[in-house]
Amino acid sequence: MKRILITGGAGFLGSHLSDRLLAQGYEVLCVDNYFTGSKNNIAHLLNHRQFELIRHDVTFPLYVEVDEIYNLACPASPVHYQRDPVQTTKTSVHGAINMLGLAKRVNAKILQASTSEIYGDPEVHPQPETYWGKVNAVGIRSCYDEGKRCAETLFFDYWRQHKLRIKVVRIFNTYGPRMHPNDGRVVSNFIVQALRGQDITIYGDGSQTRSFCYVDDLLEAMVRAMNTGDDFTGPVNIGNPDEFSMLELANLVLRLTGSQSRISFKPLPADDPKQRQPDISLAKTALGWEPTVTLEEGLKETISYFRKLVS
Ligand code: NAD
Ligand code: UDP
Ligand code: UDP
Repeated sequence: MKRILITGGAGFLGSHLSDRLLAQGYEVLCVDNYFTGSKNNIAHLLNHRQFELIRHDVTFPLYVEVDEIYNLACPASPVHYQRDPVQTTKTSVHGAINMLGLAKRVNAKILQASTSEIYGDPEVHPQPETYWGKVNAVGIRSCYDEGKRCAETLFFDYWRQHKLRIKVVRIFNTYGPRMHPNDGRVVSNFIVQALRGQDITIYGDGSQTRSFCYVDDLLEAMVRAMNTGDDFTGPVNIGNPDEFSMLELANLVLRLTGSQSRISFKPLPADDPKQRQPDISLAKTALGWEPTVTLEEGLKETISYFRKLVS
């Protein structure tokens, strides 16, 4: 039976991935230091015979025996990755080196959860994988953006130099149940604010855009990417190309929650990308995949999760 390591397994995406891989009959080894993740996300798995949990920080070496590694460990929300930016870079870079070293020693296949932030504040729209991006090296988002870029570099050098089997997926904004209520990302913020009757905080004038992918769609693509033949490395964009402004998102959340909250405008954080939309042509051909859940459907699921949490 395949043994699969998920770093960041107690986080939003990692916990759903654990569910999915256990349901497919695999053994899952979840590694997390609980920086942003929570035991609550995996509490229902703790008695599962094929599930094992290790509290560990991936910036330190890890010696385990596994067949596949999904490297998801890294805070993903700007609020969290900017809280301890040096640790964020260490997690991406030292974490990648350790997990690549582990993959090399045990000859495991390894997937990197990279990000659309690789493209920075993009001048090309939508963003194909061939676009090299426009990233500030010294700004407040750089710990995340440059850390993730360096991790991609390491993956491709271990592939070239050590013939490692690698997969790099560039994830665009993804949302769903088990996002942390104080995570700071826009979807969780707007829903929690709407459910509590607090003002919906739009940063800037709300004209900036993002393209939101529901967690189930995203994980389907991620697992498909892991299961591609050894000649496929990526990078491959995965996300939902339906693009919305933050003002549109706020109004949709207000309608779906039936909330009386008002919208209030706050300053736009530095280096906040103005637009973002994945070109998923490669995912369509290489993975035979495209998202199926609309923003409205996905938000309804997410709202019902937060209703139980917030009420
Ligand atoms: P998350 O914050 O919920 O999960 C990250 C997990 O990694 C948490 O459980 C956290 O405790 C753990 N972690 C952080 N530093 C660690 C360390 N040094 N050692 C061990 N564990 C550590 O975020 P998420 O949305 O589930 O994101 C998972 C991955 O996907 C991240 O690598 C993120 O960069 C990437 N990603 C996510 C999105 C998105 O929209 N959700 C978009 C692009 C990329
Ligand atoms: N490493 C690890 N687990 C292993 C093997 C290696 O954490 O099972 C770490 C090890 O600490 C090393 C890093 O991965 O620093 C990179 O390993 P690699 O073999 O590529 O390089 P080297 O050991 O020569 O630094
Ligand atoms: N945003 C917002 N209000 C919030 C949180 C975020 O208007 O309460 C904006 C943010 O400035 C950005 C967009 O929503 O333009 C997406 O932010 P998020 O932090 O979710 O992700 P990222 O910027 O990394 O795509």
